[in-house]
Amino acid sequence: MGMKSDIKLIDDNGLRIDGRLPNQLRPIKMEVGVLKRADGSAFIEWGGNKIIAAVYGPHEAYPKHVQEADRAIVRARYSMAPFSVDERKRPGPDRRAIELSKVISEALESVIFVEKYPRTSIDVYIEVLQADAGTRVAGITVASLALADAGIPMRDLIVGCAAGKIDDVVVLDLNKEEDNFGQADVPMAIMPRTKEIALLQMDGDMSYEELTTAMDMAMDAAEKIHEMQVEALKRKYIEEVDENE
Ligand code: ADP
Repeated sequence: MGMKSDIKLIDDNGLRIDGRLPNQLRPIKMEVGVLKRADGSAFIEWGGNKIIAAVYGPHEAYPKHVQEADRAIVRARYSMAPFSVDERKRPGPDRRAIELSKVISEALESVIFVEKYPRTSIDVYIEVLQADAGTRVAGITVASLALADAGIPMRDLIVGCAAGKIDDVVVLDLNKEEDNFGQADVPMAIMPRTKEIALLQMDGDMSYEELTTAMDMAMDAAEKIHEMQVEALKRKYIEEVDENE
């Protein structure tokens, strides 16, 4: 972000380097229930991102001193595989992963009925297998599916989506080149039913008007992504019914 360069990110026809319009999402595919031994799981392909999420819990929180007497704690762990980026990433959590784990935990916690499960922990593992910008929002989206698959009651599914600014144009869902050479990136987590915002970050800079445009774009996209989530959950459910007949 912010690396001013001569790379043209929007062509004379107003199209982006991957051929998208400014308000167009990358292709997204979701699948629910991909792991046998997790309580809930899901996989997402979002543009060049490939991310798996697994949920374990609610189970008795350990060590005991982390327990909350009146609610569950939500522990998301965002982790990037060494082979997920261009240059081998050093395995293990770095500062970025620790920060992302924290903000993702808080975003997920805001939709989960945590008061139903006192003294427990709900662990959410987000494994980035391939990264191409926007992994935190794709990670939130797939984690929400894994939580639903685990049967954990939530006020709403939660959707992650980013918008930003490249070549002075506000665009939806930045890819890697756009993230590297663009001017701003605004990842958001949205509860589509109430349009509440559970995460809002910004890297780079943009005007107030541009920011509101970016947020509107992400809001609209969140509705579409939410429909895809519901479809993915239905597909899993229908498969289970078929298997049991
Ligand atoms: P997000 O993935 O949520 O957009 P960032 O803005 O921090 O998060 O990262 C943008 C992209 O930069 C990532 O999706 C990934 O493709 C790449 N990236 C992040 N961390 C590393 C790293 N340690 N090494 C190489 N590439 C990385």
